[in-house]
Amino acid sequence: MTTPATPLTGLHHVTAIASDPARNMSFYRDVLGQRLVKKTVNFDDPGTYHLYYGNQGGEPGSIMTFFPWPNAGGGARSATGGVVVATSYAIPLGSSGVWEDHLRSSGAPVVWQGELKGEKVLETMDRDGLRLLLVETAGVEDQPSWSAPEHPIGEANAIRGFRGVVLAAEQGAGTRRFLVETLGLRPDSVGEADGIDRFRFDSDAVLGDVIDVIDPAATLESGIIMNHAPTSAGAVHHVAFRVPDDTAELLWQSHLSAEGNQVSPVMDRQYFRSIYFREPGGVLFEIATDPPGFGVDEPLDSLGGELKLPPQYEGMRARLEQVLPELPA
Ligand code: ZN
Repeated sequence: MTTPATPLTGLHHVTAIASDPARNMSFYRDVLGQRLVKKTVNFDDPGTYHLYYGNQGGEPGSIMTFFPWPNAGGGARSATGGVVVATSYAIPLGSSGVWEDHLRSSGAPVVWQGELKGEKVLETMDRDGLRLLLVETAGVEDQPSWSAPEHPIGEANAIRGFRGVVLAAEQGAGTRRFLVETLGLRPDSVGEADGIDRFRFDSDAVLGDVIDVIDPAATLESGIIMNHAPTSAGAVHHVAFRVPDDTAELLWQSHLSAEGNQVSPVMDRQYFRSIYFREPGGVLFEIATDPPGFGVDEPLDSLGGELKLPPQYEGMRARLEQVLPELPA
C-alpha cells in the first residue's frame, strides 16, 4: 500500500469538549498564555461557541479548539481503547521549572512529572479535567511564540505549539498499523520497555510531529491517566492532521476511501477544509488544509477580537449573540 505523494505534515489542530466557555478561556488564555485566535460558533450547532487558541498567527500545529457545551458533564473515564489520553504541548528545554511554579500559583494542578521518551514532562489538566502534557522539546525555542500580554511565563518560556498526542489503543486494535500503512507515519521507538509506541510524521515539521500509542492497561502503571469518553467535557473530540492544499486533501480522501475507510465529503470549515474518518480503535481523525488560515476574516493583529460567523449564519447574528454566553474581556 502506498500513501499519497504529499504526506501528512503533522498535527493541524486538536478539538476537545469543555463545559463553561468563560472558564475554558480563562484557563487557555490566562493560565497557559495561549492566544484566542478565533471566536466563532460550532458550524454543526451554531448556538454554541467554537473557540480556537494557538500561537500568534494561529498556525497549524499550535491550534487547540473547544466546543464548550455548558451542560456537558464530565463522563466516566474510559477503561478501553479508542481515546486520546493526553494532548502535549512543546515548551523549550529548561522551562518546566518556571511552568511548574506558574501552574501551582495559578491553581492548576501538577498531576505528574516524569519522562516520556527521554523528554521531561509536566502533566496538568484544564478546568474540565482534560489531560495536558507540557513537554520540554529540543529545537522549539526558535519557533514563533506567543505569550498573552503581561502573562507571567514570558515569551522565552511560552508554549510553542503541540508536541503531539497520546492515543490509547489495545495491541491488535489495528491503530498502530493504520498509522504506518494508511497514514504514512514512521514507527520510531516501537516496542520499547516503557510500553509506549512512538510514531512520527514523515515531514520536517518541528511542532506536532509525533503520535504516541499506549496500551490502555499500561496507563495504569504510568503516570498518565485515561481521559474521559469522547462525548463529555474534558475529552478530546478529534485530532486533525495537516496537508498543504486542496489537491492533497482530495488525494487523501480517495486514498482512504480506496482502503475501505468511511470518509466524509470535504467540509468547508471557513479557516481550513476538512475530511473526517475513524481509525480502527475508534478515535475520530480529520485531515485539514493549511490554507486559508485565521486571517481570512479578520486582521492577524486582532485575531479573536470579535465573534466571527460563517456566511450561512451571518443572518442569525443578533439571535446568536443573545444566546451565546458572555466571555471574559
Ligand atoms: Zn477539527
